[in-house]
Amino acid sequence: MIKERMDFSHEPDLTIDDLIARVQLYYPDVDESFIRKAYDFAAHAHRNQKRSSGEPYIIHPLNVSGTLAKLKMDVETIIAGLLHDVVEDCDVTAEDIKNEFSENISLIVVGLTKISKMKFKSKQESQAENFRKMVVAMAQDLRVIMVKLADRMHNMRTLQYVSQEKQRKVAGETLDIYVPLAGRLGINSVKGELEDLCLRFKHPEFYYKLTEKVAMKKSERETYIRETIQVIKKKLDEYNVGSEVSGRPKTFYSIYKKMTKQDVGFEQIQDLLAFRIIVDNISDCYKGLGIIHSSFKPVPGRFKDYIAIPKVNNYQSLHTTVLGPSAERVEIQIRTEEMHEVAEKGIAAHWKYKERGSNVAKSKKLDWVQDLVQLNKDTANNQELMDVVKNDIDIGGVFVFTPEGDVLELRYGATPLDFAYAVHTQVGNRCVGAKVNGKIVPLKFRLKSGDSIEIMTSKNQEPNKDWLKIVKSSRAKTKIRQYLSKVEREKSKVIGEQMLDEALKVYQTNIKTLEKKGEFKKAYDELHARNLEELYIHVASGRSNIKEVLKLIPSIDYKEDSEKEKKVESFVQKITKSAKKSANKKNAVIVDGIEDIEVRMGRCCNPIPGDEVIGFITKGRGITIHNRTCDKIAGDGGVRQIPVEWNSEYNFKHPVNIKVITIDKPGILASISDAINKIGINIRSAHAKSLPDQKGSFIFEVEVNDYSEFLKAVSVIEARDEVISVSRA
Ligand code: MN
Repeated sequence: MIKERMDFSHEPDLTIDDLIARVQLYYPDVDESFIRKAYDFAAHAHRNQKRSSGEPYIIHPLNVSGTLAKLKMDVETIIAGLLHDVVEDCDVTAEDIKNEFSENISLIVVGLTKISKMKFKSKQESQAENFRKMVVAMAQDLRVIMVKLADRMHNMRTLQYVSQEKQRKVAGETLDIYVPLAGRLGINSVKGELEDLCLRFKHPEFYYKLTEKVAMKKSERETYIRETIQVIKKKLDEYNVGSEVSGRPKTFYSIYKKMTKQDVGFEQIQDLLAFRIIVDNISDCYKGLGIIHSSFKPVPGRFKDYIAIPKVNNYQSLHTTVLGPSAERVEIQIRTEEMHEVAEKGIAAHWKYKERGSNVAKSKKLDWVQDLVQLNKDTANNQELMDVVKNDIDIGGVFVFTPEGDVLELRYGATPLDFAYAVHTQVGNRCVGAKVNGKIVPLKFRLKSGDSIEIMTSKNQEPNKDWLKIVKSSRAKTKIRQYLSKVEREKSKVIGEQMLDEALKVYQTNIKTLEKKGEFKKAYDELHARNLEELYIHVASGRSNIKEVLKLIPSIDYKEDSEKEKKVESFVQKITKSAKKSANKKNAVIVDGIEDIEVRMGRCCNPIPGDEVIGFITKGRGITIHNRTCDKIAGDGGVRQIPVEWNSEYNFKHPVNIKVITIDKPGILASISDAINKIGINIRSAHAKSLPDQKGSFIFEVEVNDYSEFLKAVSVIEARDEVISVSRA
């Protein structure tokens, strides 16, 4: 049997007997009378209503449950499908449903009634809000959404009977909310049908032109499909790979998307056909792929392995595009029967049935639904939420590779820093950057599934407050906070001790002496410190001030406005100031008198610590740091210049370009790179150029801490025989 896309078309003649027969296919012992009771109940409640098509209203709930039965939903859901409109449209209450059927069924129907009362806004910005509402409804019982999708499916199927204005509105809403939702839940059969229906009612001219064009070459195409299936089947049989092969044109909507996205005509759309190969097991999937790739020419860059790295909605399959028998591009999907089931029915494929009634089994495969609910709570940014929902970005997690080829699962939106902390706390604390798929990326780079990540560390690195804004995982956040508070405590201890010590000098005594005599006891009690260390921290953090402490030491005669008190006051101020300065590690330079200003290095001269530098006020972009000798600042006349000094506490790496002229010899790039690497200096990039008369020119972008490191790099390069000259570029 060839597995085709499920057909959900409107069935005007569907009867309750058909529905029960359909349920019995997967649930042979079903309590038939329970379903019949629901049917009778709904038919009675809707007895005076008609659909816009003129049909008796009950045809609608019957079709909705018919779809749910195709998705093999449990009996409660089937019954909820039959009853889904009675509370909203008829004189029936939730209480009635609870008494006649069950509390669960009543809750599903109430959930549906809530959704139908939601006012969905149509603007781009409000989409996220609409989606949030749906996620909240889903969190209560996923089955609410399943019934809602089946409901929407039938309404779309019969949309031709309503006004054109309503057609466009309903189709737009479906495309905005229900299509992404079906996709996110992995129910591709429903998603595909809904998309085509949306196209039909949203862009009717386009849709009918397209159906015409697709229909035109129908018999030709069918022959082609039949023959291609045979060719594929024969190849697979030769290698004893048992398979079912099917072929079909792609959905109208996917053709539409391609035409509008690439702005091309129908004739230029190449891969109109898709073939699906269902095999017995995973190893046959890969075997089958090998056979296909050796029989047909694969199109580069089109192979995707969703078996090794499933989509977040658990979709698994191999995808490839090859040049078919008549050199036409065809897409081929290879998967097992089980994967196919998940691909068509998504979340519904994971439903587990119990003896009586039903329940969603708490399977790990449904965890991502909880993740979605969590994401809705965590993501205040609407744009980010919609990115996740609308595009095929992984939401529950991204799967990335370590340099050893191990797979790590991280949260959606994870950065190299999250990865580093997932590997080890020390790796996180010392992370200075990362290479993703071999390219250097910033720390806040957003990782995607399939990325290979290599973390770069430096023993001089340490976490800072800004990292908390970058990381997504709670593990990384916790580790950074722990580090910061530990550092803060340590720093406070030292500063507090220093302050107290200095203050006591004024009174010709010291901490040790007083401690021995128990002179701090009163201070501990009054200021809620358990020991000296805590007292230091209190003093340094400003929780207690030094005067208070001095007053509480019995042997010290503290007097306000005395000469001694003034002395204490003046150095307290000095220490506080310098502590503040050293806490400012955010910027590579300190701009006199200004805190929290954005500072960047001039790209033209790449200044490094040790260079004589000057700040250059850039309109709206903070301050750019240039070498004093840089051409950029020469013509300015000094009006926009501001004095700056290097921040000795800052130890991020600075890039600098080194230009090297050599005699042209093979392997020279490697040998120079080696020499630079050997002294522990990282090379960000290297460019080579051949010059006339047998010379070579290289530009190395290296990372250095300061000017002395730069000189170190220059000297090891200069030391090489082949090198003619070295300079800063
Ligand atoms: Mn309905």
